[in-house]
Amino acid sequence: MKEAYLYKKLKDKAVQCSLCNRRCKIPEGGRGNCQVRENIRGTLYAMTYAKPCSVNTDPIEKKPLFHFLPGTETLSIATVGCNLHCQHCQNWEISQAAWEAGPQREVPPSEVVRLAGEYKTPSISYTYTEPTIFYEYAKDTSVLAHKQKIKNVFVTNGYMTKEMLKDYKELDAANVDVKGNEEFYKKVCGGVEMQHVLDSIKRMKRNKTWVEVTNLIIPGQNDDNASILQISEFVHDLDPNMPLHFSAFFPAYKMRNTNPTPRETLVKAREIALESGVKYVYCGNTYPGDPFENTHCPNCGEALIKRHGFALLESHVDKGKCHSCGQKIAGVFK
Ligand code: SF4
Repeated sequence: MKEAYLYKKLKDKAVQCSLCNRRCKIPEGGRGNCQVRENIRGTLYAMTYAKPCSVNTDPIEKKPLFHFLPGTETLSIATVGCNLHCQHCQNWEISQAAWEAGPQREVPPSEVVRLAGEYKTPSISYTYTEPTIFYEYAKDTSVLAHKQKIKNVFVTNGYMTKEMLKDYKELDAANVDVKGNEEFYKKVCGGVEMQHVLDSIKRMKRNKTWVEVTNLIIPGQNDDNASILQISEFVHDLDPNMPLHFSAFFPAYKMRNTNPTPRETLVKAREIALESGVKYVYCGNTYPGDPFENTHCPNCGEALIKRHGFALLESHVDKGKCHSCGQKIAGVFK
């Protein structure tokens, strides 16, 4: 465990965490809503520091990031815990666990960076659960990673505070989940506010972090045109070049009795986003080889990056431009 980075001490040995917008006030002996930050005798500790429950290499496309170092692998780590409690969570076994339930074996930041070097991954992803709740581990790892010219990626619900994003200067790229409308966040995600997520995306963009947005669509929950249009217009108004991924839901956790998302729903969402002016829109989690996982030039329509599942089959982006018409393609390319 490690003393938390962003918190303040209150009266009577209570503390207030300022990592995420829940801003938990925690009495002595208590823990935060995420179940991994504990007040021990008036000091807040990150209990999962350097205790990952997952260490893997993944294609960066799995995050999904389609315009950030496409075709590369990323070292991916997570600890248990989350600050949201979405009824449809696909990783609930680790995200909804308290710190004691996670592995206690330590993998320090230096070892994570060494592994990235050994596997030659140009990035490290903080992913699977919510990396905001293990920020101290991610931050320390990120600082060391940058010294080795390795980039840092957050796959996040975007519920972190402005203080955290101000502190996290080493964040290079993020995929932020925008889950639905305000009502969906209140009803399905554990009583949180959508606006904080949108504000985080705006701050990341101001910080020059590369951002892509994912919207997991669940039948009967957030598949209405108004909800999809709201997210599409947000992306368009902030930056029409910001990629938007519509992803299919599969039954999980407290939504085991909900049907998977039909592909037609994602196709309809894609049309709404394109009509809103978003330039790069994808359908994910359907079937390997879905043509709507390919990247097209927004100017001439050429299929520039062809994918099959998480594999990149071919790329015709040349120095960040379409090889056919020379249009600049938004993203971070090698
Ligand atoms: S990170 Fe955890 S303890 Fe801190 S405010 Fe969020 S839920 Fe509460």
